[in-house]
Amino acid sequence: MIARYGNFIGGREDFEGEEAELRGPADGSRLATVTFADAEKTKEAIDAAEGAFARWSKTSIGERQKLLAALADRVQERSAEYSGLESENTGKTIRQSTLMDIPLAIEHIRYFATTKDFPSAREIEHPEYPGTKGIVQYAPLGVVGAIAPWNVPLLMAVWKVAPALLAGNTVVLKPSHHTPLTALELAKDCSAAGFPAGVMNAVAGTGEAVGQALVSSSKVSMVSFTGSTATGERLLSGSAGIKKFTMELGGKSPNVVFDDADLAKAVKGVLFGIYLNSGQLCESGSRLIVQASIRERFLAKLKEGMEKMRAGNPLDMETDVSAITTSEQKAKIEALVDQGVSGGARVYYRKQMEGATPAGGLYYPPTLLTEVPEEAEVAREEVFGPVLVALDFDTEDEALRLANDTEYGLAAGVWTRDTERARRVSGGIDAGTVWVNEYHLLSAAAPRGGFKKSGIGRELGVEGMLEFTQTRHVFLNEGTDIDEVAYGLLLPE
Ligand code: NAD
Repeated sequence: MIARYGNFIGGREDFEGEEAELRGPADGSRLATVTFADAEKTKEAIDAAEGAFARWSKTSIGERQKLLAALADRVQERSAEYSGLESENTGKTIRQSTLMDIPLAIEHIRYFATTKDFPSAREIEHPEYPGTKGIVQYAPLGVVGAIAPWNVPLLMAVWKVAPALLAGNTVVLKPSHHTPLTALELAKDCSAAGFPAGVMNAVAGTGEAVGQALVSSSKVSMVSFTGSTATGERLLSGSAGIKKFTMELGGKSPNVVFDDADLAKAVKGVLFGIYLNSGQLCESGSRLIVQASIRERFLAKLKEGMEKMRAGNPLDMETDVSAITTSEQKAKIEALVDQGVSGGARVYYRKQMEGATPAGGLYYPPTLLTEVPEEAEVAREEVFGPVLVALDFDTEDEALRLANDTEYGLAAGVWTRDTERARRVSGGIDAGTVWVNEYHLLSAAAPRGGFKKSGIGRELGVEGMLEFTQTRHVFLNEGTDIDEVAYGLLLPE
């Protein structure tokens, strides 16, 4: 018997609808059945969220934080189950789920449960009208539609759900139909933690059915979307009604290594930057930009590191290489690399994995490409796979030009021991996150998001919380007659 999942609507699991079978990418085995919602079922979830909004929006920040803390405790108690499910569903290594994805999700719920930085109302002065004052309030928006991708399912859901609820909104979460399991568990755990029925709903299904229903509903006040740039563009052009969007989209992030860097650390950071999660992370450092004077030495060291990474069953604690989550994604990676190679790119190194990974699974070997033609798609487009493209430079200006020579601007890495250079270069890269001598480390206190085609708006930090609010300015006159000047324009004494 495999597990059976329904949608979570109005405080209960709902099994009405078509059941789809999910298979695990590690070895293709049957994992669970999930009821996929259609547009009508999504409307029920939106109605449940709308119905719950009036009361929820009146609760205090303290009450909301108490419930978020209970949710964090609950996910923590079940963290081994969450890690197992996340790895079985996505094919990421169980070590990564156990030590990174799930603990981060818990820590980030706790951040929203304890932060004192959620903006409370503030008083302002009106310089034009002495003696009056203003109060700026941060009001919730209403029903938030949260649309998430398949690569980091629980954490991406948490980044939307926790701040949206903290700000007093109600939520309809739509996980990717490929990887809905931990998001559906999160919705059930919200209920177990004490969130009132309808405050948090989760609806599984395709983008065309569920996603579209959320985007086109006039009852949804905001869509917080994470996914590909192509889908994001489609949503913006096809949305109905007036609603707010935040868009966390794709990337083609540079990892810039100067010859004065701590090279042993930089090698680790570059490998971690691209091959973690088999490159299926939005901010994966997929373009290595290395100073020409150390190029050969650096590439040889990368190869050594790639040789050491252990291929195997991702569900085994000793395995380092994740599976590819969907067969469509595997085909896309293959096509982009093959096209690049036929256009002249050289495979500098490709890891041998044959025989090491379970039969029936989806895998693509970590690959390092050099001499890639500038215009090749693999050099410019997001591959979302374990494929690193190496470029080189002589001067700092050239490094910056190459780093910014992309339509994306999500993240970047800079490796140097020179602090002045680190400041100059990081300040010159058009990206929402720049790591110096580091890669992939995330803090819930730091806003993240994209420049250029990588997105609009921010998640996490104070900036991320503000996205889930709208301001109300209350103009208070408690007794001055300064307004008489204005009234005099119409009403002479
Ligand atoms: P995707 O764009 O295919 O899908 C994302 C979500 O949108 C899914 O839930 C999908 O069902 C839904 N969707 C698809 N079509 C829709 C439509 N017409 N209307 C409404 N919803 C629709 O992306 P994906 O393949 O699931 O995820 C990978 C992408 O996500 C990569 O490009 C990656 O860079 C990006 N990503 C970005 C971030 C970030 O923080 N910037 C984080 C993780 C992933």
